[in-house]
Amino acid sequence: MSKLYLVPTPIGNLEDITLRALRILKESDIILAEDTRKTRILLKKYNISSRLISHHKFNEHRTARDIADRIKNGEQITLVSDAGTPSISDPGYLLVKTCIDLEIPVECLPGPTALIPALVNSGFPSDTFCFEGFLPHKKGRKTRITRLAAEERTIILYESPHRLLKTLTELSESLGPERACSVSRELTKVHEETIRGTITEVIKYFSRKPLRGEFVIVIAPR
Ligand code: SAM
Repeated sequence: MSKLYLVPTPIGNLEDITLRALRILKESDIILAEDTRKTRILLKKYNISSRLISHHKFNEHRTARDIADRIKNGEQITLVSDAGTPSISDPGYLLVKTCIDLEIPVECLPGPTALIPALVNSGFPSDTFCFEGFLPHKKGRKTRITRLAAEERTIILYESPHRLLKTLTELSESLGPERACSVSRELTKVHEETIRGTITEVIKYFSRKPLRGEFVIVIAPR
């Protein structure tokens, strides 16, 4: 029986893709992509001409069952996201769950994801940690931040540039301004940097210039 493959793609540097990932992409009848234009750039670089179909959070509820049926009928289908590992703060969970419920094999290849290099770069304990993804913008935000104050493991969060300072400020209010933190920006890209210090120091650093790029916040354990 065919299976659903989930293939991680680079988070910036297009060289960060495994040989097996390229082979699976090449062998796929269909590649489901969040943004087909972005994925096409990667496929073009590696001369891969598999058919691309759009699959994103706005249509995944409608199409998951149809995709599962196609796999059952022998089509080789691979899910990618714009960057990193599908299903990690990206679409994927629903399709994986649908396939598992229908006893269709699922295989996620190991590969790029932003949280792991950010955690290792931070220098905070990496033996146990919690990944919070994006905090909710409104409903439930305060509860989540309050809950983090009691967390005893290293905490990892994803954040967009225009919310970075707001989130750091709220974390400082809940966890204390002296808590150590590390923010990794533009991992694997030309302007990659990791800033370490207290939450107050990191806020000060990022307040100096307009914020651009992608960010991972890592907070030291209590
Ligand atoms: N699926 C991806 C993964 O496996 O990491 C995450 C996708 S999520 C929609 C995008 C967020 O991941 C960004 O807002 C940022 O927090 C983080 N991210 C992705 N690429 C990054 C990079 N090159 N540097 C820093 N953070 C990154």
